[in-house]
Amino acid sequence: MWSSLADKALAGRLISRDEARSVLHAPPAETLALLDAAFRVRRAHWGMRVSLHVLENAKLGACPEDCGFCSQSSKHSTTSGAASSPSGEAPMKSVDELVDAARRAHAAKAKRYCMVTATRGPSQRDLDTICDAATKIKAEMDIELCASLGILTEAKAKRLAESGVDRFNHNLETSENHYAKIVSTHTWRDRVETVRLAKAAGMDTCVGGIVGLGESEEDLLDLAFALRDLDVDSVPVNFLDARPGTPLAGYPLVEPGFALRSLCMMRFVHPRTDLRVAGGRELTLRQLQVQALYPANSIFTQGYLTTGGATIESDHQMIKDAGFELELASGEAVPADPVAMKGMRRPSLLPVARS
Ligand code: SF4
Repeated sequence: MWSSLADKALAGRLISRDEARSVLHAPPAETLALLDAAFRVRRAHWGMRVSLHVLENAKLGACPEDCGFCSQSSKHSTTSGAASSPSGEAPMKSVDELVDAARRAHAAKAKRYCMVTATRGPSQRDLDTICDAATKIKAEMDIELCASLGILTEAKAKRLAESGVDRFNHNLETSENHYAKIVSTHTWRDRVETVRLAKAAGMDTCVGGIVGLGESEEDLLDLAFALRDLDVDSVPVNFLDARPGTPLAGYPLVEPGFALRSLCMMRFVHPRTDLRVAGGRELTLRQLQVQALYPANSIFTQGYLTTGGATIESDHQMIKDAGFELELASGEAVPADPVAMKGMRRPSLLPVARS
């Protein structure tokens, strides 16, 4: 059964919704067979290569939007004195700081470096900073450049593309139906429109979601097929790590077997896409983390925007131990090198004042 799904995906045929649903229901005894089938599809398009992506907080906290899972929203940042994530406003980082962080990502053998702001959309001043940094980074080093800055206009999308930003991230998070239960300050359709503008400006699009927002399986399938309809270039799959002080505080972690099945389902629906096991990987998958590399071909390393994660050294070690290799921005494949990464640390999350 799983092997025939791989055959179908490899032949370029879209698997049906029922077939995608059956992946989510695979019994534990078939986990290895399912992973093997997803791996056949992944290997056909991505070989044994894993790309490392590094996120950089260009501007953290005090976001006017009210995304229920996010500790950077000003709408729920003061609801819990126990909040462990940054929740006050930090200033926009300088161009020099953003370029320095790109140098560290490059030294860690990351293929991609992504500058992120917590905003509804970029102000003109913030856009200037991101664009100046993008131009300097592209002139200095070979690294793919991504940005995640919220809602765009046509002019802002064009400016980013002209400054050297290769890919724009704007997650749909969940189904259109479930989105309204999680966010009220903008709509799922607003997000689709920004994805469309980024694409029209000539940037690749990175559009994924979060598993564990209280969505149904049908919502998750809706998301997978909506992303397919949008023909996105990259799909990051996050697993909710519920933050104290947010409306979703206390939501349980996704069960690790379901997390793997979700990744396999995404791989069958998106055979050629850059599929990333993203935020929540470490907490959700625990000892099963390496198994995610069989459906997925990329990971974030050195933590996320408001939470820590695996170190660059341990990620290199995992990739090396499993016999994978790293893909660089040049397209070259190189061995993972945990020894060279020893002691390489990401500067801790920005210190921010409580709002
Ligand atoms: S727009 Fe982004 S930063 Fe702002 S609340 Fe939503 S997820 Fe958080």
